[in-house]
Amino acid sequence: SIPVGFFGGLGGASRNGILVKGGQYLEALGNVDTVVFDKTGTLTKGVKVAKVVPMADMTREELLDYAALAESYSNHPIALSIVEAYGKPLDRQRVDEYTEIPGYGVKARIRGRQVLVGTAGLLKQHGVTCPEVELAYTAVHLSIDGQYAGYIIIEDELKEDSKQAINDLKRMGVKRTDMFTGDNYHIGLKVGQNLGLDEVYAELLPHQKVEKLETIEKTKATRKGKVVFVGDGINDAPVLARVDVGVAMGELGSDAAIEAADVVLMTDESSKLVTAIMIASRTKRIVW
Ligand code: ADP
Ligand code: MG
Repeated sequence: SIPVGFFGGLGGASRNGILVKGGQYLEALGNVDTVVFDKTGTLTKGVKVAKVVPMADMTREELLDYAALAESYSNHPIALSIVEAYGKPLDRQRVDEYTEIPGYGVKARIRGRQVLVGTAGLLKQHGVTCPEVELAYTAVHLSIDGQYAGYIIIEDELKEDSKQAINDLKRMGVKRTDMFTGDNYHIGLKVGQNLGLDEVYAELLPHQKVEKLETIEKTKATRKGKVVFVGDGINDAPVLARVDVGVAMGELGSDAAIEAADVVLMTDESSKLVTAIMIASRTKRIVW
C-alpha cells in the first residue's frame, strides 16, 4: 500500500525524510534485488555499556575515564555509548592527539600516555595481547602505554524497526538481504538469525567490505537487479561510494558516509529505505 499523503519522485522522497542525490538513484532503487546492511549503527543501536572490567591496578572509574576521553572525538556508536556511560563532562583539553582507525577503534594521547581503545586486533597490532572475553558481546579493549588495561562490554540492541524493514523488503520482492560487520562472528550470526537475514559476513575490515560487495555483485541472481548498501560509519564510505545505490544513515551517521552515499535517510531507520523503494517503484509506474 502507498502511504497517505504520497508524493512521487525526488520531491516526494524528500518530503518523507529521504534525500536522493539524483534521479538515476531513484530509478535504480526501483530495480533493487539485493540489500546489504552494515550492523552497528545501521541495524543495531550499539548504545549501551553493559560492563566495565578494569585490570587489578585500576578502578572502573579510571578505565572509563580514559576510554571516554579517547572516544570523545569519535561519533562511532560505540564511542557515543562509552561517553554516555561516563556521564560526566569531559575535559577534552586533556586529549593531546587523536586518531580514529576505521574498523578497529581509536588511538589517543592522554596526560602524556598512549591509549588504545578498540578491537583485540588493534591492540595486537601494537604488541598488546588481549584476554579472551565473552564472544556473545561486543568487547572494547583498552591499553595504556602498551599495557593491557581492561575491557568494556557493549550491549548491541537491535533498532526497533530493523526486523519489520527486512520483512517488508522481502515481501516487496527483494531477493537477498545480507549483513556486513566488523564485529565478531558470534554477534553477527546472532543478529542475522534474529532478523532473518540470508547471509552474514563478519570480522570485515573496511576494504574487505568492498571485496565482499564485489563478490555479491558477481553472484547475483539477475543481471539487471541493483544492489543497495546501507551504512553509517567512516568504515562504510568505500562501499557506499562503490555500490549501485549507497544509502547512509543521516542522523548519527558519519560525515564520510553521508558524503559518499547516493541516498541519505534523515532518520536512522531502515524502514525509510522501504519507503524509498516504494516511492521509487511507484514513480517508475507513473513516469517511465
Ligand atoms: P560495523 O561494521 O558493525 O558497523 P565497525 O566496522 O564500525 O562495525 O567496527 C568494527 C569493530 O571495530 C567494532 O565492533 C568495534 O569493536 C571496533 N571499533 C570501531 N570503531 C570503534 C571505536 N570508535 N571505539 C571502539 N571500538 C571501535
Ligand atoms: Mg556501522
